[in-house]
Amino acid sequence: LVRLRQRLAGAQGGFGRGLLALLSRDRLDEDTWESIEDVLLTADLGVQPTQQVVEGLRTRLRVEGRPEDARTALREELVKIVDPSMDRRLQVSGADGKPGVVLVVGVNGTGKTTTVGKLARILVAEDRRVTLGAADTFRAAAVDQLATWGDRVGVEVVRGAEATDPASVAFDAVKHGVDDGVDTVIIDTAGRLQNKAGLMDELGKVKRVIEKQAPVTEVLLVIDATTGQNGLIQARVFSEVVDVTGVVLTKLDGSAKGGIVVSVQRELGVPVKLVGLGEGPDDLAPFDAEAFVDALLG
Ligand code: GDP
Repeated sequence: LVRLRQRLAGAQGGFGRGLLALLSRDRLDEDTWESIEDVLLTADLGVQPTQQVVEGLRTRLRVEGRPEDARTALREELVKIVDPSMDRRLQVSGADGKPGVVLVVGVNGTGKTTTVGKLARILVAEDRRVTLGAADTFRAAAVDQLATWGDRVGVEVVRGAEATDPASVAFDAVKHGVDDGVDTVIIDTAGRLQNKAGLMDELGKVKRVIEKQAPVTEVLLVIDATTGQNGLIQARVFSEVVDVTGVVLTKLDGSAKGGIVVSVQRELGVPVKLVGLGEGPDDLAPFDAEAFVDALLG
């Protein structure tokens, strides 16, 4: 939590300070409200959520007069929009003695492999037994990178020969996990997006071969927070080909646009469950609406 605050406060820079300064002006005229809207839009909050926050603040002012504490009013409106009621728990446990399988999907370069490694570390720290599957077989580098993470975290990585069918690696990894009686198998997948039909075929097949052996309990879509609207478009394609259950928003440490959390949740209708805050092994954190807003406000 402390890390979340530090990293976000650094990246989000003037976001919270700027808004608070505007809200504490002597006169909250239309120009000021427009400036407030601009700050929210610049942070990638999206048009509708921005209007909702501004409307919420204006209504409070009408009803309560000038808020005693602008920060509290702003905090409450932002928390509402980030939606603390969403269920953000990770489903990593299987049933009937079988492991839970977490499928990690997303476009190459978003931070998928890194996220798989960091997530394994979190689960291992919770005393879970974990196996990783390197099903991003189209990039030899991705397989090697995952193997390095496996060594670092101390978990087994199942990999196929180069250019093996991703579904066959996924199958082998889950089989291995079932035979070993591990708690969770995490599968890194390929993220080629040239062709939606191809992606659908591939991810569909990966999911089917896994489900012959153990339940897919979580499908995490990794989105790079620095890619803004483009990231959202890619996210939509993935959510159309596979039932995404949660989002991992990476590189929030390098983006001044924390409002993307809200846009992503609205666009996909699924919660942000984890956020990436750096390249290191401990730089993945569970997402919490209130802590996030506190971090934004600095
Ligand atoms: P993949 O192609 O989706 O598997 O992406 P990688 O896991 O290889 O990550 C791509 C690059 O992004 C690597 O240099 C990672 O170290 C970096 N990266 C991943 N997650 C984060 C994050 O949360 N913050 C920052 N700053 N960099 C990240």
